[in-house]
Amino acid sequence: PFCLLGDLSVAIERTFSIVKPDAVAKNVIGEIYSRFEKNGLKIVASKMVRLSQEKAEGFYAEHKERPFFPALVEFMTSGPVCVQVLEGEGAILKNRELMGATNPKEAAAGTIRADFASSIDANAVHGSDAPESAAREIAYFFAEEEICAR
Ligand code: UDP
Repeated sequence: PFCLLGDLSVAIERTFSIVKPDAVAKNVIGEIYSRFEKNGLKIVASKMVRLSQEKAEGFYAEHKERPFFPALVEFMTSGPVCVQVLEGEGAILKNRELMGATNPKEAAAGTIRADFASSIDANAVHGSDAPESAAREIAYFFAEEEICAR
């Protein structure tokens, strides 16, 4: 009488995304947002901001000891970025798939980084890599009332 196969549906998740300064400068915010929307991700919060050094350092605190950290902070503060919360089925993994590999030379054809990134540091987008980082990163940029249930 019972179906033990369980529920095969994928959970609705929220993930955090940044359109980085290189992609904003290239005027491809809309093209990147369009990738999200065409692939079942809804933008439920969005704003353009200029990161302070302190904000960028805090965001990338896990990379503090890495050799590329100073250059990464300098790049992320070099121009405005768009920060957004994306919502949808399996949003965290789906966004990572749409982004492609960190190094655009290794990114699969048709991914955001393959199409818009110039280098491993100026790589067009950020996306949370796990539920814990998604929750932390969303809260780092958005108050609860800035996220719009849809
Ligand atoms: N990064 C870099 N040089 C490297 C590795 C990473 O400049 O050798 C930067 C790059 O912008 C990357 C960010 O640091 O997006 C965070 O690195 P991570 O390994 O978390 O990659 P991601 O999750 O963004 O794909």
